[in-house]
Amino acid sequence: MSNYYQIDKETMPVEDIRKVQSEKLVKQVKHVYENVEYYRDLMDKKGVKPEDIKGIEDLHKLPFLTKLDLRDAYPYGMLGKPLKECVRIHSTSGTTGRRVVAFYTQRDLDVWYECCARALMAVGGTSEDVVQVAYGYGLFTGASGVQGGADKVGALTLPMSSGNTERQIQFMMDLGATILCCTPSYAAYISESLKEQGYKPEDNKLKAGIFGAEPWTQEMRRDIEKGLGIKAYDIYGLTEMMGPGVSFECSEQTGMHINEDHFIAEIIDPETGEVLPEGAKGELVFTCLDKEAFPLLRYRTRDICILSREKCSCGRTFVKMTKPMGRSDDMLIIRGVNVFPSQIETVLLKEGYTPNYQIVVDRVNNNDTIEVNVELTPEQFSDTVGGITDMEKSLANAIKVMLGINPKVNLVAPRSIVRSEGKAVRVIDKRKLLD
Ligand code: ADP
Ligand code: ZN
Repeated sequence: MSNYYQIDKETMPVEDIRKVQSEKLVKQVKHVYENVEYYRDLMDKKGVKPEDIKGIEDLHKLPFLTKLDLRDAYPYGMLGKPLKECVRIHSTSGTTGRRVVAFYTQRDLDVWYECCARALMAVGGTSEDVVQVAYGYGLFTGASGVQGGADKVGALTLPMSSGNTERQIQFMMDLGATILCCTPSYAAYISESLKEQGYKPEDNKLKAGIFGAEPWTQEMRRDIEKGLGIKAYDIYGLTEMMGPGVSFECSEQTGMHINEDHFIAEIIDPETGEVLPEGAKGELVFTCLDKEAFPLLRYRTRDICILSREKCSCGRTFVKMTKPMGRSDDMLIIRGVNVFPSQIETVLLKEGYTPNYQIVVDRVNNNDTIEVNVELTPEQFSDTVGGITDMEKSLANAIKVMLGINPKVNLVAPRSIVRSEGKAVRVIDKRKLLD
């Protein structure tokens, strides 16, 4: 059982998806070549002409774009339409460096909001729902995307923005929010605050949450689901493509369907750029098929994941991507070992700790050091007087088994790690400061 926003598109046969993608790609390459000088130069350098692209089988001939290109072309170099036809600007969160600025025509916004409407209906959203938007409003795409989706579905939006958790909770309870949209770390924080105020999971009217914009683990999903008494769904996107809703989870909760009528997804080897077969793990690359104002072709997301086209019980035929396992640029290399923060989070939650943690990496005498500060719950805190050192050792050991490197673990008092209302800051890499 599933609800669709655009059933004919969301369930179209795979051959039709390829056909639609091919037709749109040919047109889009022409649009980009004629209007985006920056990309025209890249194509010319590679010796590719628009006529060489006859369908998706020719996609591999096109040059890649990276975040560096977007920085080079900042602010107007990637524009595919005159500014007077653009109606909106958004910008990345700047998690990993200088912000990227993206532009939208009205049609771009409509396509984006339709994608978010699909996401909302996939989790059971209808015009009867009250959608609490606790993503930050503003330059960040999170709030605009889900609000646009809720408008299309006809739901009632509570545009809370992020922060002011007291008021967030008051409105959630008083106005009976049924769907919560925010980052998973903020959802965990709201859940924690509700508990502190004495609310039980069944006291709220929430039925589902749509959480994205940052990596989160299955363990964290279970925690949030239990704490809020809801089903928690993942949503993925990036400003460069539009924002949230590039892909979304359905009732199966086993990966996110990519809106393939608007985006072509490829997985490549991040080292060589070689396109990998379905099922391989690698860097996700997107080509926008409908974007007018900011029409990126073969954009390297640096997000690492796996694509799968196995039949889904929800009836959607769009390919599914796994939760990104972290970005290739989030990956820490510690004493030569590749470490993703999400791996550490998995261990923490398995061992019964909170997902409130921070990883501090440093270099002492040419040797990398890693410390993991982990917050205790109030119950753990009062239980463990005298036993903290043993707990720290045992957790350090569990992390060592997972990663192969020995961290120093510091268990810290409840509430001592700063909470995030947007994307969580998980890593403090002091080594970079020395560069
Ligand atoms: P920034 O790159 O500055 O964070 P954005 O705000 O546009 O810019 O964020 C897009 C990035 O956020 C994605 O490339 C991805 O790394 C991350 N992201 C978005 N949604 C998810 C999700 N559901 N799971 C994991 N990571 C996500
Ligand atoms: Zn599905």
